Amino acid sequence: MKKIYLASMLFALAIPSIASAQSFQYNPPGQLKAGSGTGRVDDTVFVPGMRYPIENAPSFPNSQVWGKGGLNGGGGGQCDSENYSYPWWDNFCETRSWTVPMCPGGTGHQGQDIRPATCEKNLHWAVAAEDGEITNIGTYTVTLVGESGTKHRYLHMEPSSLQVSVGSSVSRGDRLGRVSNSFGDTATTIHLHYDIFQTVAGVGQSYVPPYMSLVRSYEELIGMPAEPCGIIAEEGGIIDDDSKCFRLAGKTQFWRTLDGEGHGGRLYWTYAFTNANPSAWAQWDFEFAQGGKYRLDVYLTPSEATSTKTRYVVRHSGSMQELIVDLSEDNNGWRSLGEFEFAQGGTQSLSVYDNTGEDGDLQLKIPADAVRLTRTDLVIEPDMGTTEPMDMGSDPVDLGSDSQDMGGGSSPVDMGSTGGGSSQPDMNTGGSSQGGTPSTGSTTTTTCGGCATGRKNQEPSVPVELLVLGAGAFLMRRRKRS
Ligand SMILES: [Zn+2]
Repeated sequence: MKKIYLASMLFALAIPSIASAQSFQYNPPGQLKAGSGTGRVDDTVFVPGMRYPIENAPSFPNSQVWGKGGLNGGGGGQCDSENYSYPWWDNFCETRSWTVPMCPGGTGHQGQDIRPATCEKNLHWAVAAEDGEITNIGTYTVTLVGESGTKHRYLHMEPSSLQVSVGSSVSRGDRLGRVSNSFGDTATTIHLHYDIFQTVAGVGQSYVPPYMSLVRSYEELIGMPAEPCGIIAEEGGIIDDDSKCFRLAGKTQFWRTLDGEGHGGRLYWTYAFTNANPSAWAQWDFEFAQGGKYRLDVYLTPSEATSTKTRYVVRHSGSMQELIVDLSEDNNGWRSLGEFEFAQGGTQSLSVYDNTGEDGDLQLKIPADAVRLTRTDLVIEPDMGTTEPMDMGSDPVDLGSDSQDMGGGSSPVDMGSTGGGSSQPDMNTGGSSQGGTPSTGSTTTTTCGGCATGRKNQEPSVPVELLVLGAGAFLMRRRKRS
């Protein structure tokens, strides 16, 4: 509930000029219209970075059967203003006989019903949620399989309005057809039924709750800033694999879990293989409270860290850098990937990919576990002591005078070890000189075109970009075999 108010406040702040317009509000995921069944309480964004499936806002996901004008809607007509107003209502798992493993009772509505801006058919465009291919077109159903392997279905568009055919390649945001009420011989209400089908760890193949993916993509559509998954404090922090800032991507079924090992008692791992494109990858998203230089470490467990050419990509301060790392050595605990200059704010990340170029038959493993960021350039402010200035004079350490000097130039190297207390011996020299920062001449750092604005770079389109960048050959080996 708190989220709803926050969302509406942010919207009002972001677009003051239309403050009189309705502010976006949504009921929590899993809360269905009374009497319509039991929802799934799940705030997972199953398709991070997807495009909202209707071209323009506003738009109103809610129940067709339990809304005004619906069979169990208590009267009124489908065009009732209540159906065309916030807050949104989740209707995934609403009472139906379809088998849906992710619904509490094992059956239910497979997706989300969405009304367009107005109660007019064949006017509002449905658009591609992500890059992909149209794999099937039925009487009233269009199926898009995205690059991530996610299957998106769009139901009830006007058949004569379709812009795609089977085999069409589409880009995120491309028009597919107009939202209507097509339903075979009979008509339904004017709405888009949209659903998402994925392979889910521990569940198998299932329709998954689309609600929070819709919320997030809608917020992007109406210009609301993303709520950060978490904020890294000025001195650094750890993002483990249970954090909202961590996600598995691509063909996620290839990520296996190992319980009782790794940081925090669990890690994911997958096999390295040879292919131009990655199959599975993982990403840790970074949002920094403060910009600065941070050492970036990954947590390794020997049995699951055997690939010798693991590909990591660090996106930092509008730049992006690929690292090729031999995980077969120094793989018991924290392992440094170097030091990097990060900017305040988000759109920065670490990704790891499975297409290392190693033979799949070797069964070499790549882990995805915790990542640690440790600030290495923190300057101690003169007044940092909590004791009163009056007492400082008698302090045996004589903080006062030291601090005066420190303020000016300071050596980041000393700071790192003083502040963090956990620095690794070779870190400061190795990391910075081998190219952790863009300023180092010997390293090729490539500017990531859309990093500052586009979410796309964080999403499944990344690998394509990497292919291009890969030709630049900015390989880096943290540890040479002696
Ligand atoms: Zn539906």
